Amino acid sequence: MPSASSRIVVIGGGAAGFMAAISAKAHQPGAEVLLLEKSDKWLAKVRISGGGRCNVTHHCAEPRKLARHFPRGEVFLRKVFAAWGQPQAVDWFAAQGVPLKVEKDGRMFPVTDDSATVIDALVSAARRAGVVTKLHCPVTRLLRADDRWVLTTPEGALEADRVVVATGGSPKDEGLAWLAELGHEVVAAVPSLFTFNLPDDPIRELMGVVAPNVRLRIAGTKLESTGPLLITHWGLSGPAVLRLSAFGARVLHDMKYEYTVLIDWLGAMGEVQARERLSSEASAHPNRQVANAEGFGLPARLWAYLIARAGLPAAKPLGGLGKKWTDRLLDVLTNDRYDARGKTTFKEEFVTAGGIALQQIYPLTMESHVAPGLHFAGEVLDIDGITGGFNFQAAWSTGWLAGKGAGQLAMAESLKSPDERRPGQLISRSNRLRSAHASHRTFTHRPHGLYRPSTRSRTEPLPARRPRAPLRRPEPQRVFHRL
Ligand SMILES: Cc1cc2nc3c(=O)[nH]c(=O)nc-3n(C[C@H](O)[C@H](O)[C@H](O)COP(=O)(O)OP(=O)(O)OC[C@H]3O[C@@H](n4cnc5c(N)ncnc54)[C@H](O)[C@@H]3O)c2cc1C
Repeated sequence: MPSASSRIVVIGGGAAGFMAAISAKAHQPGAEVLLLEKSDKWLAKVRISGGGRCNVTHHCAEPRKLARHFPRGEVFLRKVFAAWGQPQAVDWFAAQGVPLKVEKDGRMFPVTDDSATVIDALVSAARRAGVVTKLHCPVTRLLRADDRWVLTTPEGALEADRVVVATGGSPKDEGLAWLAELGHEVVAAVPSLFTFNLPDDPIRELMGVVAPNVRLRIAGTKLESTGPLLITHWGLSGPAVLRLSAFGARVLHDMKYEYTVLIDWLGAMGEVQARERLSSEASAHPNRQVANAEGFGLPARLWAYLIARAGLPAAKPLGGLGKKWTDRLLDVLTNDRYDARGKTTFKEEFVTAGGIALQQIYPLTMESHVAPGLHFAGEVLDIDGITGGFNFQAAWSTGWLAGKGAGQLAMAESLKSPDERRPGQLISRSNRLRSAHASHRTFTHRPHGLYRPSTRSRTEPLPARRPRAPLRRPEPQRVFHRL
């Protein structure tokens, strides 16, 4: 059975890595699939996500609509989601015994409201598929040698036909240097999903108050978002702010997080309609004090704060506002201004913008253009979504396609004769990489497909390509265990 000769290594035991390993086994059952995790636990972010409930995905099945929730990666993800998207993820989890439920805002959680259910499903699926796993196993380097990949790990060097990199977001660009070395463009990392600090601003006394639907803008930019806004003890938060911080991650970073936030407390209503509503309430109740007015459905504390901010005496009757006071009140209601100074990380769902540039990746296999045989999945890519289950959806989808691509391409390669494998361009690229890395270290073969560093001089040629014996591939080393 030729497929027995393939080895696929997945680096990173998070959401994307698990899905990639499971998918690789599903598409190439004869391959040996190894999943390596540097820390002492699998799926750490899945466990803490969604306040321990895991917001697995969002109730949005249509690929184009779903992709709109990604400030970075929208166009790329349209193809990804069309190939394996939200409906497939929902069905996959249901088939593993994890039905999902939808909340009012569209977020989808396991019906158990417990992230452990999601973790158990992923771990069991990997176990059943025969994925071989290893914790405490950081991969520090990748090197192309002949037609295979060589991974540097504390256990020694490990060779693989195909590799899936699913190492998650890196807040520092140096964290991706080992992938940049292979010719990948790395888009600089900046924080996404943060809240706005308003130091010393009296509005913070309204902490806990939610304005149900505001329109937010950043002065001097085209950034705009709508939705609920939460006032906190340090400034502004809530969906409208988080959305703006995600779509404006780079612009706000370049502004050094110092900018003016323009708030229309009435959302989509607009000044003309607001004026009409105020005037008709004044006609119907001329003696009603402004403090007791309907206040456009805003919370009472916020309404009191805004009329004071307009300088309007709370006891003034609606019938006596006149044009001057009406204009002042409407200006505060629809064009309020706050100076933001700094940001606070949204710890509920922290993601990094930036990563491996998408123009170097094929969306249907997640394979790199510049390093054939290398696939990517999850937040290591320059993909990030807003809050609501979108980031996990991207991890499941890219993970599934990366595993599928690695499995199917490894299968196709294992069926070729050695002379047919990796012709022309790929061989010359591997040779280029070999020379580039020869100054650091070379490798000699060990049994079991593992390598160890050699003391051979950098000028000495690498060993001739090892003849492959597909049917006699040894078992994985004992250091790796099944889940
Ligand atoms: C507190 C919090 C809550 C969140 N809640 C949600 C939510 O409810 N819904 C949602 O959609 N998104 C949520 N997110 C975002 C979501 O968790 C991430 O987008 C998602 O986990 C990305 O998956 P990943 O597999 O790409 O990366 P990760 O989950 O970060 O996994 C990467 C793994 O690779 C390992 N690794 C890294 N480098 C190496 C290496 N060199 N060798 C071996 N292993 C390595 C890491 O240790 C890690 O285990 C949350 C994030 C946080 C921080």
